Amino acid sequence: MTVLGLGAMGTALAQAFVSAGHPTTVWNRTPGRAPGLTGVTRAKTVADAVSASSLIVVCLLDDASVQEALAPAATEFTGRTLVNLTNGTPAHARRTADWATQQGADYLDGGIMAVPAMIGGPAGFILYSGSEAAFEKYGAVLSAVARPQFVGTDPGLAALQDLALLSGMYGMFAGAFHALALTSSEKVSPTAFAEQLLVPWLTAMLGSIPAIARDLEYGADGAAGSNLAMQSAGFANLLDASRAQGVDPVLLAPMDDLLARAVHEGHGDEDLAAVVQLLRTAG
Ligand code: NDP
Repeated sequence: MTVLGLGAMGTALAQAFVSAGHPTTVWNRTPGRAPGLTGVTRAKTVADAVSASSLIVVCLLDDASVQEALAPAATEFTGRTLVNLTNGTPAHARRTADWATQQGADYLDGGIMAVPAMIGGPAGFILYSGSEAAFEKYGAVLSAVARPQFVGTDPGLAALQDLALLSGMYGMFAGAFHALALTSSEKVSPTAFAEQLLVPWLTAMLGSIPAIARDLEYGADGAAGSNLAMQSAGFANLLDASRAQGVDPVLLAPMDDLLARAVHEGHGDEDLAAVVQLLRTAG
């Protein structure tokens, strides 16, 4: 196979393919990158790299770099499979899928749910969408880098769910950062707080997310256990105390606004799925 891009992630991908015994050709815009990567064939041009393999994996900085890098090799893609593991939006994925189809190539878009150190190990996974035939043909090969999971034939679905998972991660980090800033404004050990209280609490609360999702999908089936009017009143204390402790509430103030809006719009006796609904209808 061919790997285009030898940044931190592309290098890890190429290394995993080599370690799994797959003959691997690599290309990078700036020559000499990843000098420690051995056992690969280094192509001088993208066209040479693409024509070396039936499976081409591209992992560059962003969508613009993918367009720029692939354009000179467009005619080489006929009859091959392009797997794009570059972070992007659903619109980017659909456009690149159309481009690949025009070149006569099969296309899979992928969202890597791992950091480079996790590539080739059991913890990470990669979401794929696009050509199901390509996934059936190459899924086993792609499993050398991380567990592959096919999420649909619409090429945009992997990027959508990748970005949704990152949203969940950054939202969780935002709450954790605020919590650490708040507790470290007094003589509370951040390490002890994180290990003994914050992580167990977040772990317990993670269990409530599927119930919120079910309420969103099927409607709530009973009285709210933690109604929004109550939560909105309590949230005001969270922001007041933060300001009093000299902690900027910037990461959590939007949640206060949303809870207040939900109550104002008549959802005070409902549960948190009503907040998700407000987000979905925003704009
Ligand atoms: P790096 O910054 O380490 O590498 C960027 C790569 O993109 C380099 O190979 C660089 O080439 C290349 N590049 C940038 N612009 C162009 C261009 N115009 N034309 C050709 N090549 C270009 O990034 P990563 O390897 O870490 O990330 C790659 C992708 O993987 C990103 O989309 C990222 O979001 C995604 N990803 C990364 C994760 C991570 O933790 N690292 C986790 C999950 C996804 P050059 O050497 O010439 O500059």
